[in-house]
Amino acid sequence: MDRPASNILSSPIEYLNGISAIRGDLMRKEIQVFTFRDLLDYFPLRHVDKTRVDQIKQLSPAQEYAQVAGKLMSLELIGQKRARRLVAQLQDATGTIELVWFQGISWVQKMLQPGQSYLVFGRVGFFLGKAQMAHPEIEVFRPELASGKSFLEPIYPSTEKLKAKGLHGRAIGKFTKDLVDRLSPADIPENLPEYILKQYQLVNRFEAYRSIHFPSSDTHYRQAVRRIKFEELFFAQLGIQLLRIDRHRNSRGWMFEKVGDYFNGFYQHHLPFPLTNAQKRVLKEIRADLGSGKQMNRLLQGDVGSGKTMVALLSMLIAADNGFQSVLMAPTEILAQQHFNSIRAYLSDMPVEAALLTGSTSGRDRKKILNDCLEGHTHILIGTHAVIEEKVQFKNLGYAVVDEQHKFGVAQRALLWKKNSLPPHILVMTATPIPRTLALTAYGDLDYSVIDELPPGRKPVQTSHRTEESRPQVMDFIRQQIAEGRQAYIIYPLIEESSKLDYENLMKGYEEVKSFFPEPKYWISMVHGKQPADQKEANMQRFVHGDTQIMVSTTVIEVGVNVPNASVMVIESAEKFGLSQLHQLRGRVGRGADQSYCILLTGNKLGHDARERLKIMVSTNDGFKIAEKDLELRGPGDVEGTRQSGMIQFKLANIVQDKAMLEAARNVVADLLEKDAQLILAEHLPIRQYLLERKDKTRWARIA
Ligand code: ADP
Ligand code: MG
Repeated sequence: MDRPASNILSSPIEYLNGISAIRGDLMRKEIQVFTFRDLLDYFPLRHVDKTRVDQIKQLSPAQEYAQVAGKLMSLELIGQKRARRLVAQLQDATGTIELVWFQGISWVQKMLQPGQSYLVFGRVGFFLGKAQMAHPEIEVFRPELASGKSFLEPIYPSTEKLKAKGLHGRAIGKFTKDLVDRLSPADIPENLPEYILKQYQLVNRFEAYRSIHFPSSDTHYRQAVRRIKFEELFFAQLGIQLLRIDRHRNSRGWMFEKVGDYFNGFYQHHLPFPLTNAQKRVLKEIRADLGSGKQMNRLLQGDVGSGKTMVALLSMLIAADNGFQSVLMAPTEILAQQHFNSIRAYLSDMPVEAALLTGSTSGRDRKKILNDCLEGHTHILIGTHAVIEEKVQFKNLGYAVVDEQHKFGVAQRALLWKKNSLPPHILVMTATPIPRTLALTAYGDLDYSVIDELPPGRKPVQTSHRTEESRPQVMDFIRQQIAEGRQAYIIYPLIEESSKLDYENLMKGYEEVKSFFPEPKYWISMVHGKQPADQKEANMQRFVHGDTQIMVSTTVIEVGVNVPNASVMVIESAEKFGLSQLHQLRGRVGRGADQSYCILLTGNKLGHDARERLKIMVSTNDGFKIAEKDLELRGPGDVEGTRQSGMIQFKLANIVQDKAMLEAARNVVADLLEKDAQLILAEHLPIRQYLLERKDKTRWARIA
C-alpha cells in the first residue's frame, strides 16, 4: 500500500466546491460531518427517480411525495410581516400547482425566474382541492433527464438550519456527487477478505459506497445496503470477540483441577432429581472454565424455575473439592434466606458447611460466621451484599456466584477482587432473558451459558387477559383457589418510585381486595417500596409461611421470591407493565405441582403496543420469545441491562431485522479467529489494515 494513511477521505469538507466556511461550520454542528469520510458515511434517506415526473392533474392526497415539471407562471410576495410568503404557480400540460415558501424568501426569489421550466420535488398537500407544495426542492429542468434511463437521486436527511443555508436534502447530494466522483477504488479499499465476499455474495466496498449514494438501479442499492450492513456487523463482532480473546489471555485465575468427593458424593448420592440436559451442559461449560487457569466471568441465563440454584451449588462443590470457599450473593434478604434454606436442605447429609450472612444477622452469630470464614470452616457463604463487605475475610475464597446481575456493579466487583491474591471466578445468574441477538452484540465479550429447558413435569402457567369489568369474577376465581388451599398475588403498577398516585391506587386496591376478602376468614399481606424494611420482611414472611392467603403488592416482589403454593398471579393495569416485567411477575407462580394462572387485568382502551404485549403474554411462556418480542417492540436502545450500548449502534444494520445476518457475521468471525486470532494470514490483511487505520477511533482494536 503506497498510499499514506491520511488519504483524501481525511480532507475537510470545505475542500468540496460550494461548501463555504459557514456551511462547513453548520455541517459540523448540525450533522457531525467534518471530513470527506464523514460525508461518505452520511447516507441518503431515500432515492427519487428523477426521470419519473408526475402529472399535476394526477396528484392525489394519497401520495406523500411527488415530482413535477413545468413552467413557472408567476412568483409573488403575499402578506405582511409574519404572514409574508412567497407564492409561485407552476404549470404543466395538465394543470397547475402552487408552491409556497415562508422562509428563505429572498434566496428563493433570487433563484427563480418566471417563464423558466423547473423540476420540483416535495411533499404534496391539498388546499381547497388544489395541489400545493411548501418548501419544495426546485431546480432548473433539464429535458435530457426525462429522456434518459432512470436516475435515482439521493435525498439526505437535513435540518432547519441547514435548509436555511440552501443545504436541503437534495442539495447535499451535489456534494456527495462531487465527492464520489473524485474517489477511486484505492480510496475505499476493501476491508473484508475475498473469501467472505464470495461466500456471502457481497459487492466490494468501493462499489457499495458509490451505490449507496448513487445506485444505478434498485438492485444495486439493495446490494450496497446489504454489503455495508454486513461490514458493520462483522466489525462489531470482530471487536467483541477480540476483546473476549484478550480477556481470556490476560485473566489469570485459580485452577480448580479436580472434581472430588464433595461433588461426586453429592452427585451420586444426594442429588434430589436428575439434571436436565441443559443443566448438564451448562455445568460442563462452567467446569471447563474453572479448570482452565483463567478467571471465569460467565453469565448464566435461565428462565425462572429453570434450576439455576442447583447449577450454582454443584459448581460450588467443585470449588470445595479444590480447597476453595465460595460466596453466593442474592439481591435481597428474602432471596438469600431462600437460597440458604434450599441449599442447606440439599446438603443436609453432606459434610459441607454453609452459612447465611445478611444485614439482620445478629451480632453473636455474625462473629461466629466471620470467624468460620476466616478459619476456612465455611465452604459456602450465602447472603446479601453483606458477604463481600470489607469485614468479611476468607481463608481462601475462589468462587463467587451472583444471583441477578442488575444489582452487581463495579464497586462490588472491586470488593470481591480484594478477598484473595487472585480474583475469584464469577458466575452471574440472571432470570431476565436477554434475546440472543442482543446477547451477541452487547454481551458478546462475556462468556455466556443458557439453561433453555425447564425441569420435566412443570405445568405451564395459564395466562388470560380480562378487562376491569371482570374483576368480580376474577376475585371469585381467587376465592376458589384459596378454598383449595392455594395462595394468590395481586400486583399493582409502580410507575415511578415516588409517585403518590401509584400508592393511592395501591391503597384503593388493597381496600377493594379487603372488601372481597374480609378478615378473619381471609388474611392479606401488603408489601410496597415505602414500607420500612422490617415491616416488608414480616409481611413477606407471613405470606411465605402461608399465614396470609393473598399478597397485595407493587413490583417489589418481582425478583425471585419463591412460594410454590401460590397459584394465581393477578396483574392490575397490566397494560402499564413492560413485557419483561410481566414475564418476571408471572414467574412467581407455577412453581409447584399444581396448575397456576396469571390474569392480566386492563382497561378497555389499549394502545397498539400494549395490545401486542398482552397478546404475546397470553400466547407463550417462553422467556426468550418474549424477550425477542420486547426487543422488537422497544428497539435495542431501550432494553433493560443493555451494556456498552455503543456496540449496538449501527448506521444501517438493525439487530432485530437483520438477525440472520448478525448470526452469519458472528459465525464468520468466530471461524476466522479460530483459524487466525492474530490476523496474520495474507487473506486477512485487508482486515488488519482497516483496523490499524481506524485504531485511533475504536477502543477495541487492540491488535497491532
Ligand atoms: P431458578 O432458575 O429460577 O433459580 P431454581 O433453582 O429455584 O430456579 O429451581 C426451581 C425449582 O426447580 C426448585 O424447586 C428446584 O428444586 C427444582 N429443580 C431444579 N432442577 C431440577 C431438575 N433437574 N429436575 C426437577 N426439579 C428441578
Ligand atoms: Mg433463583
